[in-house]
Amino acid sequence: MKINTAEFIISNSEVSKCPKEPLPEYAFIGRSNVGKSSLINMITNHKNLAKTSARPGKTQLINHFKINQNWFLVDLPGYGYARVSKKTKEVFQKFITDYFEKREQLVCAFVLIDIRHEAQKIDLEFITYLGETGVPFCIIFTKADKISRTKIDSHVAAYRKALLANNWEEMPQYFVTSSLENTGRDELLTFIDNVNQD
Ligand code: GDP
Repeated sequence: MKINTAEFIISNSEVSKCPKEPLPEYAFIGRSNVGKSSLINMITNHKNLAKTSARPGKTQLINHFKINQNWFLVDLPGYGYARVSKKTKEVFQKFITDYFEKREQLVCAFVLIDIRHEAQKIDLEFITYLGETGVPFCIIFTKADKISRTKIDSHVAAYRKALLANNWEEMPQYFVTSSLENTGRDELLTFIDNVNQD
C-alpha cells in the first residue's frame, strides 16, 4: 500500500468522541518508549506525525489519523510507565479498556514489543486482556536493528515460548520492524491492505 495522505483528525480521552465515520481502524499500543511514535512516523512516511516524546508517558490520549481517506490509524497511550501518577494511570486504563471494549470500528490492535527484552509481565497481561476481550491483534517487534540478525529468530522464539506458557496455543501473527532502518513497513502495510480488502 502506498501512503498518499495521512492527516491528524482528533485527540481525546473518550471513546464516544472518536470519529463517527465507519472506517476500519487499526490501533497501536505498547509500553512507553517501545518506539510507537517512531513506528507510526515510519509507516506513514511523516517525520513527525506522531510526536516522539523525550518524556515517556506524555501522550495519554487516543489519537486518530486518517490514512488515504479510507482507514484510521489510532495511536493509543503508552502503558506501564512509572512516572504517571496512579490516578492518571487509572484514568487512561479505563479509557483504553473502553476503547477496546466499545470501539466497533476497531479491526486489529498492534501490540508493540521491544525485541531486545524478555517477555514483560505487563505486556503479557495486556495480551491476555485482548484475548479475553476478543480483540484481534498482532505483535510488532520494534527496534530490530538493536540486535544482530541472527538473534532476531531466537528472541521471537523466546517470546512465543512465553506466550505458550501463558496459555496461548500459538504465536499470533507478528512483524519485525526497525524504524531506524525502515524495515517491516511493507509487510505491515500489505497486511492492513489485505484486511481492508476482505
Ligand atoms: P514511544 O514512547 O513508544 O512513542 O517511543 P519513541 O518512538 O518516542 O521512541 C523511544 C526511543 O526509542 C527514542 O529514543 C527513539 O529514537 C528510539 N527508537 C524508536 N524506534 C527505534 C528503532 O527502530 N531503532 C532504534 N535503534 N531506536 C528506536
